[in-house]
Amino acid sequence: MIISFRKLSFYTKILTITLLLTFGVTILTITIYIIHNISQDQNLISLLSEIANESSEISAGVLDKNHKLITEKLNKLRRNPDILTVDVHLSKDHASNERFGVEKATNLTADGKNRIYNQEKYLSLFDTDFEITLPIIKENKSIGKIYIKAIDRNPYTDSFFLMTALTTLIAIFMAMYLSNMITEPLISLVNAIKTITTDQNYSVRVKEKGGTEITTLMTAFNGMLDTIQHNEKIQQESLAEIQRLSYYDPLTGLPNRDLFKVYLQNSLTDAKKNSLLVSILYLDLDHFKNINARFSHNSADIFVQEISKKLNQYLNELGGLSSENKNLITSLSRLNGDEFIICLKNVRSIEEVESIAAQILSFVNQPYHFHESQFLSTASIGIAVYPYHGETAETLIKNAATAAYISKDEGKGNYKIFDTKVGKKIDNQIKFENDLYKALERHELVLHYQPKYHLQSKRIISLEALLRWNHPKIGLVPPDEFIPLAENMGLIIDIGAWVIKESCQQCQKWHNTGFPELRVDVNVSARQFLDAELDFKVKSALTESHLAPHFLELEITESAIMINDDQTLATLQALKSIGVSISVDDFGTGYSSLRYLIKYPLNTVKIDKSFIAYILENQSSATIAKAIINLAHNLNLTVVAEGVETIAQLNYLRSVGCDIIQGYYISRPLPAEELTAFLTNHSTKPFET
Ligand code: C2E
Ligand code: MG
Ligand code: MG
Repeated sequence: MIISFRKLSFYTKILTITLLLTFGVTILTITIYIIHNISQDQNLISLLSEIANESSEISAGVLDKNHKLITEKLNKLRRNPDILTVDVHLSKDHASNERFGVEKATNLTADGKNRIYNQEKYLSLFDTDFEITLPIIKENKSIGKIYIKAIDRNPYTDSFFLMTALTTLIAIFMAMYLSNMITEPLISLVNAIKTITTDQNYSVRVKEKGGTEITTLMTAFNGMLDTIQHNEKIQQESLAEIQRLSYYDPLTGLPNRDLFKVYLQNSLTDAKKNSLLVSILYLDLDHFKNINARFSHNSADIFVQEISKKLNQYLNELGGLSSENKNLITSLSRLNGDEFIICLKNVRSIEEVESIAAQILSFVNQPYHFHESQFLSTASIGIAVYPYHGETAETLIKNAATAAYISKDEGKGNYKIFDTKVGKKIDNQIKFENDLYKALERHELVLHYQPKYHLQSKRIISLEALLRWNHPKIGLVPPDEFIPLAENMGLIIDIGAWVIKESCQQCQKWHNTGFPELRVDVNVSARQFLDAELDFKVKSALTESHLAPHFLELEITESAIMINDDQTLATLQALKSIGVSISVDDFGTGYSSLRYLIKYPLNTVKIDKSFIAYILENQSSATIAKAIINLAHNLNLTVVAEGVETIAQLNYLRSVGCDIIQGYYISRPLPAEELTAFLTNHSTKPFET
């Protein structure tokens, strides 16, 4: 693999340059040495050959420190037939000549006094390493000798070699040291970073070795990974917890609605491909509210946990090998509170589902023991089967829930298979409820007003505000059809507040348009009566409309007043202190208790229309009406008879001392504008009865 020099780290660059330099120096030294020796040899030999041509008697001296080389050179000279004598002189140590086994120079003294130098022939190679003296020939007679001095080796060569070797060694050592201290740790660091980046694997660690700074860097790097890994672990644990919480019910550990839906959707896809049946069993515990009220929430939770365990155990056995249908797959989830849902995959028939539902009920419908008391727990099951009762998960769950709802309604502790017709009715009911949620904000609620006629003065003295819902599709919906629903849904608080406000404003409008004596009566539901802010809402409605409090009367039903003695008294007193009047509506239909007529600060009693309807035909109705009138008058209460439809009824009521009547005979409840016209008509021409 070729690595670009530029890409190398700083330390590696330095290391490479050092190695290259060392290598270069070594190569250079070796080259110089070789060239030097070769040149020396060749120069020496050619020189001597030249001399031999001129003289037959020659003596040559060669000086060298390298014994082996000297011997080789002398031998070469000896082999030359023209050379007679070859002598060796070591520069100053003449005696050591013998050690080389060569003849001693006879004609040349060691100190070279007899030498005659021919400076012209002096050759030099590489500095002063080489000296030579040529023979002097005169008249064919040798008068002198030649002297060759060859210190062919630079005395520094050895140390140069040694230095080179040492430098190389040091360089290698340094390279290894640097590599160990810097390069290797850095490479391992780079590799670790690469692994982390590509694999997101934070469990990688680097060896904490190298120079001090590098070790510190490695320790810090490992520390950083420790922190990241720790944080990642916490994050993963939190994610797992979030996932667990979002897909599992914390109380029972069962899959929740979302996870169940996913499971069901997959089961349906499978069933569609293979033409299989999938069944949903919607199980609703029957008396859970009572258990919650009778025992603590904690006990109710334990109860739910026990039921879930039982169901799970039963379904496991059912889905296991002990089952008759070995392909049956079951899954259990908890939706909320006391509602469980079961999916049965690969069921063979609706009959099989029914038999399973019956078995589940026999498990659940059992006596339970709680804190030394015992109660019978029952459940209702609704069944929906794919493809008969729906194709999608949502439809099947909804239809199974509807079937459970109907089963509960028909008498608890049983199962019910979804019926399309009944389901439609329930569907409409659900739609109706949803519409009611939006009725107030969509301004679909309207008030009609029904006059109250004072029998003695023959005048309309008051108007009862009666609520209607102008449904965009159905049309005008009477209050009996939606007020109980609004009570259950908790909407009545807001709706009721709106009615009080609207009625006060309308009454004030009538005051401003020529009917300054009119009062308005507003119905207050039981739930509304329990609203701690009722007096505050009444006060602000009066303030906002500028209506004096004595023009407002609140009609409260008998049953609402009976709910809670102390609170009722406190609420009534609070309302009375504002200055409004209080009337008991539908009197005679509830407990008709004398006690509360005495105890509570009331102004009016309204005899229910059910007595008035048969007041002339039915003696007991007439007796009750008469008794109520007498009783009320004895308690200083005004009496209103509602539902008066005929003049005969009116006359009878007048004859028994009734104060006010209200009914179709005078007028049906009318929208405000129509009632204004009615009032205008009768203001000039009193309502003659
Ligand atoms: P309620 O307060 O007893 O009102 C009298 C009901 O008798 C009214 O029915 C009225 O239309 C009806 N009625 C009046 N005269 C006659 C008659 O001569 N013959 C017959 N057969 N019926 C007559 P509506 O308007 O359908 O109201 C029904 C009930 O709904 C009211 O009974 C009242 O309890 C409740 N309601 C009406 N408006 C409100 C409201 O704004 N808030 C609350 N909480 N309840 C309301
Ligand atoms: Mg009323
Ligand atoms: Mg009434």
